Amino acid sequence: LSEARALVTGLVGDRAGEWDRAGRIPTEVVRRLGEEGLLCAEVPARFGGRGWSSLDNGGFTAHVGSLCSSLRSLMTSQGMAAWAVQRFGSAAQRKHYLSRLTGGELVGIGFSEPGAGSDLSAMGTTIRVEGDSVVVDGTKVWLTGAGYADLLVVVGRFGDGAAAVVAATTGAGVSVRPVPDPMGCRAAGHSTVELRDVRLPLDALLSGAGQPVSMLVTTALTYGRVSVAWGCVGILRACLTAATRHAASRVQSGRPLAEHQLVAGHLADLLVAEQVATRVCEHASRCWDDSSPEMVTAAVVAKHVSATNAARQASTAVQVLASAGAEDGHVVARAYRDAKLMEIIEGSNEICRLVLAEHALAVAS
Ligand code: FAD
Repeated sequence: LSEARALVTGLVGDRAGEWDRAGRIPTEVVRRLGEEGLLCAEVPARFGGRGWSSLDNGGFTAHVGSLCSSLRSLMTSQGMAAWAVQRFGSAAQRKHYLSRLTGGELVGIGFSEPGAGSDLSAMGTTIRVEGDSVVVDGTKVWLTGAGYADLLVVVGRFGDGAAAVVAATTGAGVSVRPVPDPMGCRAAGHSTVELRDVRLPLDALLSGAGQPVSMLVTTALTYGRVSVAWGCVGILRACLTAATRHAASRVQSGRPLAEHQLVAGHLADLLVAEQVATRVCEHASRCWDDSSPEMVTAAVVAKHVSATNAARQASTAVQVLASAGAEDGHVVARAYRDAKLMEIIEGSNEICRLVLAEHALAVAS
């Protein structure tokens, strides 16, 4: 783990702000981490992965998130796609695709559509078998990592249920168009993907085809929620570091900012937010590692707490740095934009609260 942390620290260096402004991480950096199996480090060693626990991968994800949320976003989508293959693929599909995903090939995963965001039961993308082909038609939006990807895991309707296929981004009928100027995580390769009469061999259809939409979506999103939550811990750590350093060194009215109690209060809030987010993430990862029945709820709690804490406290960090953090590309300015988006993805704040209320009511009844 410490080797992996050192590798990614070296690869990112002080370039995250530059990548954010350019809207692109150098492909060789992403590929290098992919080849090391670090974009989906929980994939078991028998498929070429690192076989890390969720707790270990969580700590690593937070580290990457503290350096560069765009790169962390690529880890989340690669890990989610790998988990979908692991969970729904046949033995042959797991062997085939997971070795590719731990060997340097990059992947995005598509659920969202122009008419289906929070409500994925409204997905219009269709997946159907025709003779010895599987045919995909639809439009997917905001796919993280699609701008770098070799492969896409595409989720769509399959008869009365849902299915996922693996398609090459270079295949006939597939077009990938970057989202112009995203507000945050600007270098994460977010793209719109059109799939027009895309014909794939039958073995591109993951074998769990036909299950309810909610089951497929919840399975994949649970991985994503834990990953995003750890990424938010990273954002909080980066903000806490920047704010404390600045408050300790910048002098106003004859003393360091940190000695002005209102500013000290901001630092305390940042620390508490980081600690709370870390604890809920640790709990979710332990649930994942123990295959606990609490897993799904723990992942929603972790994502919701970490994302809201990150969004609120990134704003606090900008407040502490004031003009010193108000330039585009500064770590806290970047955190402010990136963290806001974490309140939208993998289940928005509102959807998380609805899921948690439903859980509370079920427990009470
Ligand atoms: P809408 O569903 O239109 O919601 C708009 C607002 O209404 C939100 O505040 C929402 O919480 C609220 N709302 C909606 N329904 C309800 C309800 N029933 N009750 C209460 N409130 C409600 N998608 C992918 O498939 N793959 C990706 O890799 C991916 N990456 C993303 C990365 C980023 C940075 C972003 C911004 C989005 C990404 N998405 C991805 C899309 C993301 O999953 C959706 O944006 C998200 O599900 C919300 O959908 P929406 O944007 O259509 O908002």
